[in-house]
Amino acid sequence: MAVWNPWHGCKKYSPGCANCYVYRRDHQFDRDSSRVTKTASFSLPLQKTRQGGYRLTPQDAPVYACMTSDFFLEEADPWRPQAWAMIRSRPDLEFIIITKRIHRFSVGLPLDWGEGYPNVTIVCTCENQQTADQRLPVLLSLPIRRREVIHEPMLEEIQILPYLKSGEIARVTCGGESGRGARLCRYDWILSTRRQCIECGVAFSFHQTGAWFEKDGRTYQIPRSQQLRQAEKAALEYRPSLLPDSEKQREDLFLRLSKSSFRSRFSLSPSMKQYVSEKGEEVIQRHAQDFVGTRLAPAQPEHDGKQTPMKGHPVFLAQHATGTCCRGCLEKWYQIPKGRPLTEWEQDRIVDILMDWIHRQMK
Ligand code: SF4
Ligand SMILES: [Zn+2]
Repeated sequence: MAVWNPWHGCKKYSPGCANCYVYRRDHQFDRDSSRVTKTASFSLPLQKTRQGGYRLTPQDAPVYACMTSDFFLEEADPWRPQAWAMIRSRPDLEFIIITKRIHRFSVGLPLDWGEGYPNVTIVCTCENQQTADQRLPVLLSLPIRRREVIHEPMLEEIQILPYLKSGEIARVTCGGESGRGARLCRYDWILSTRRQCIECGVAFSFHQTGAWFEKDGRTYQIPRSQQLRQAEKAALEYRPSLLPDSEKQREDLFLRLSKSSFRSRFSLSPSMKQYVSEKGEEVIQRHAQDFVGTRLAPAQPEHDGKQTPMKGHPVFLAQHATGTCCRGCLEKWYQIPKGRPLTEWEQDRIVDILMDWIHRQMK
């Protein structure tokens, strides 16, 4: 992962900000965190190395944007259009934007944003019930390709089931608070969110315990060096399906597919490759979205098991090659249960897999 901080400094905004780590760190260097300034790495996504390549490469992704500020901060309004333009010019990089100011999302949004840039994930932080109820309806109402939620620092038990049921939230991450004056986080709150996620088939992560953690009625003070490790040891990570969610997971999938004699038998013939070249990958991607949306996504697809011909379109071949040809194969390869519609997120990931396979064939 990489971090891109185009501007630095922020204004405290809601209860989660009380012990903001930006303020804590700046304080050590006598720096005023409430002064918002553009940084020297403002144009990092466009910066090149001496060899002429980009400094940030897809291997560095995802790129976490604005980790010492808030991307949608009012003070950054004059700079944000340029930041969006840089994000748009690097479709090869996945950008993750974490914000508490989701209500300001549309200020300075580029005209060509449409349904959202495919390389942008928006993560909405809500630390308690009130901020969840204020921010999540806004998050759900906006045109965003991938949405996630963070409860960190988690300040109380939070009910978000109605929002998760929309099928529009891809992941929820919980965590406690660190640093001096950190507030307590309870294991029960974490488990409650995890239960809600499992009920709705939404991915869940427990990021860190924070400095003060209560479990089974006992309070533990956890040193900074142990906070991530203790959360990991709790083994609460939940993935609703085996659909790859990162470059690394996609590589693992292709390795797994290459070991199947049936799946690895498929390839694009010269005439299919010519078809892809003539149409262009964007058109092929639209075909893939259409096939996935109409033939796979319904809870009970028509002629399930026989809906994908063995030839006739590069996407059909890609589907057989990647185990995304029918709901039976989706269950076997990706643990997506039959009998329920595919979420938009799942459909997008399947299209990613198909386009990745076609792309590899075209090389
Ligand atoms: S929004 Fe984030 S960066 Fe800004 S003060 Fe709050 S916690 Fe700190
Ligand atoms: Zn199948």
